[in-house]
Amino acid sequence: MNLRGLVTLVGMACLLLAGLSCAANRGVPASMLGWNQAVPPFRVAGNIYYVGTNEMALFLIATPAGHILLDSGFEAKVPQLRHSVEALGFRFGDVKILLASHAHIDHVQGHALVRRLTGARVLASKEDAGVIATGGRGDWAYREMFSWTPCPVDGIVEDGARVDLGGTELVAHLTPGHTRGATTWTMTVHEGGRALAVVFFPSATVPPGARMVDNPDYPGVIAAYESSFAIWRRLPCDVFLGAHASFFGLQAKAKRLRAGEQPNPFIDPAGYQKSIAEFETRFHAVVESQR
Ligand SMILES: [Zn+2]
Repeated sequence: MNLRGLVTLVGMACLLLAGLSCAANRGVPASMLGWNQAVPPFRVAGNIYYVGTNEMALFLIATPAGHILLDSGFEAKVPQLRHSVEALGFRFGDVKILLASHAHIDHVQGHALVRRLTGARVLASKEDAGVIATGGRGDWAYREMFSWTPCPVDGIVEDGARVDLGGTELVAHLTPGHTRGATTWTMTVHEGGRALAVVFFPSATVPPGARMVDNPDYPGVIAAYESSFAIWRRLPCDVFLGAHASFFGLQAKAKRLRAGEQPNPFIDPAGYQKSIAEFETRFHAVVESQR
């Protein structure tokens, strides 16, 4: 067997193992099992509540007209998500709109179940909608590695789209790269007499093993990341949040918030700029390593 044949065989074996371990762990890939420890839900700032786990950052934006949920997480963890929403005193059935940071298994695998349980309208960017609607097909980096329950998408959000519910407005900023339709959501909250700009950052990592240079499946991938970094650098940000708890130091900030720290420790404009700069440095290092 030549080298190319061997590489193909090893690749197929890896995909098979990833699939088998997924099935054994109720759909959670083995590498992501440690991301599911329960975290007591809490109010982050304004009408934004944390309903995620130690690593999967899911947010409930509560309004008098029902709620917006940003990311659904793993399907097997939807009961835990529901419990978190209800522990805050909200009804899970009042989730009216389901948004996505980006169409990867850890953020949208639960979409179909949440939509079925709540009747929420699922909104997604055009480029990510196809991946959500097919349950994982068409991702430029993971390709067919992960598959999950397909979820109908009820509406497409364009760049700059505004999602309104009960006096709250979220704005979509298309920031492709990590996925083709990765979406940065922003909104304003009012706290302590101040209007605070909130940024929900999707991700800017390079998926493991993804080919950045001369990738025929995504020829513009490097330019996409670069343009997204330019957007992130100039977005006003007081309250820094993201799709993974580790992106914005959730655990430490939650602890400080519980201790009564003022001002709210999630107000972290410097931390936001520092994180974006670190993501950009890592991105350039991966690209250079492939040239
Ligand atoms: Zn991702």
